[in-house]
Amino acid sequence: TLILGIESSCDETAVALYGDDGLAGHALHSQVALHADYGGVVPELASRDHIRKITPLIETVCDSARRAEITGIAYTRGPGLVGALLVGSAVASGLGMSLGVPVLGVHHMEGHLLSPLLEDAAPAFPYTALLVSGGHTLLVAVEGVGAYRVLGKSIDDAVGEAFDKAAKMLGLGYPGGPALAALAEQGDPGAYDFPRPMTKRPGLDFSFSGLKTAVMLAIKACDGTPQVHADIAASFQQAVIDTLVIKCRRAMRDSATGRLVVAGGVGANQALRDRLGAAGTTDGFALYYPRQAFCTDNAAMIALAGWLRRGDFMPGIAAAQATARWSLETLVPPRPTKPV
Ligand code: ATP
Ligand code: MG
Ligand code: FE
Repeated sequence: TLILGIESSCDETAVALYGDDGLAGHALHSQVALHADYGGVVPELASRDHIRKITPLIETVCDSARRAEITGIAYTRGPGLVGALLVGSAVASGLGMSLGVPVLGVHHMEGHLLSPLLEDAAPAFPYTALLVSGGHTLLVAVEGVGAYRVLGKSIDDAVGEAFDKAAKMLGLGYPGGPALAALAEQGDPGAYDFPRPMTKRPGLDFSFSGLKTAVMLAIKACDGTPQVHADIAASFQQAVIDTLVIKCRRAMRDSATGRLVVAGGVGANQALRDRLGAAGTTDGFALYYPRQAFCTDNAAMIALAGWLRRGDFMPGIAAAQATARWSLETLVPPRPTKPV
């Protein structure tokens, strides 16, 4: 089995190969520079750029000899920007027809959830996952592939969105998460006492829009010197991380998995990883995460999800599907690979 994975849900065009021996190649083109002037992703520009980049990326990952070995194509069916998703799904469906192989649409967040399985130190099932990305903030109980229960989620902004908005207010570029994290290293995380939203009440839901307002007020009231901006960045990051760590410890106390996965773009944040690792040492759970490059959007996680769902590939021509909104909890485990 050799699965070609295609990702085009937002502003990264990516292609990868995953086979029985593991990851066999991956390539990615980020549209960050394209959208930077607009301070956010412009959907129409995203779709057009996916069209430009996707075929060259496929050629980079597999030459014609390698393409002949592909046994199935997995593409991101959703959630995401519908126009962007349509590019990946149409290319997957067309290539599937020309190669005579089946095509499967996979869930982008399932890709993020399973991404730590790309690493040598992969977690066993079941595990608990903190999924923190540009559009999602979720705590998920992962029983196995396709068996997901949402334990908690953000009732307003996603963590990545909060990072990006705070960064924008501080005049940092887009996407602001990495830039804010870098600035935070120069600041004092105790300088400002920002709220740790929803940590005092029970439960595992999150809220980050109040924190964003607190940052805005602090910026308005401050003298605007670089050091004060660094202090605000550090204090904001500290408040976010404290909040995430409190909820993760609570989730790990409630569940007996003993394994916490952190995935999604914000999972690339080193300070978050360090703090969760320390909490795990104190509380007795192990922390797992994908390499930094596989925290943000990539096709390796999509090819992997396709390979794990190889029992779901159906012969015949598949319609190209794009599902902009799609709940993780509607997924079901894959069909067995061999008849049982
Ligand atoms: P979703 O997966 O929910 O559809 P997305 O695909 O846009 O959203 P990802 O690519 O997984 O999200 O992650 C991008 C987000 O991660 C951005 O908000 C970005 O600012 C944030 N991010 C990336 N690196 C860091 C970092 N080191 N610290 C904090 N945030 C980061
Ligand atoms: Mg992105
Ligand atoms: Fe993503």
